[in-house]
Amino acid sequence: MTEWNIQSRAHACEACGKTFADKESFHTLLFDEKAGFRRYDICDQCWKSQYSEGSKDRKGFISYWQSVYEAPKPPKEAIQKENAETLLRKLIELNDPHYIPAGYILAVMLERKRILKVKEQVMREGSRVFIYEHPKTGEIFTIVDPNLQLTQLEEVQRDVGRLLEHGLNPPPENAAAITSAGEQKESEAVQESESAVADNPAAAKAD
Ligand SMILES: [Zn+2]
Repeated sequence: MTEWNIQSRAHACEACGKTFADKESFHTLLFDEKAGFRRYDICDQCWKSQYSEGSKDRKGFISYWQSVYEAPKPPKEAIQKENAETLLRKLIELNDPHYIPAGYILAVMLERKRILKVKEQVMREGSRVFIYEHPKTGEIFTIVDPNLQLTQLEEVQRDVGRLLEHGLNPPPENAAAITSAGEQKESEAVQESESAVADNPAAAKAD
């Protein structure tokens, strides 16, 4: 199974090594390599001289888009509350296949909030894989479609609601006590994931 992952935006051109300037336009190419999807960020000059001519099939990449580089800002000091985005990042880092359905639901929630954007939908080793871009940070999120059946949905919804409320390591004595905030988050997860199964997140991207 394809591993899910996050690939950060590069700070320099992969072809010529030139550092990107703030607000510089650059090009992202996605290649399907043996080990997984691999992104290449290249400068405008290298794009024009090496990649722009010919179809993407001939050049070997499966997806391509252009965006604007933003120099990294100093990290925020404030402690971040757990939300769908921080939780998804933790699940991907954990890389435990048990959480793939929850990760998929979280990605759909983030797509609806316009935090993630579907860039591409591809089949890999028999599984559907969504390539999401995080437009604010330029990261690429690779998310495997768990092909959820309606009968499995309720359990996954409960998982997501619980994870949003308690995080990945809930204190055991609190596990049974669900606050009203928890119920609210859970019902949000239920709502979002129901529509996620009803209509495909990539449907917006007309093919
Ligand atoms: Zn370059």
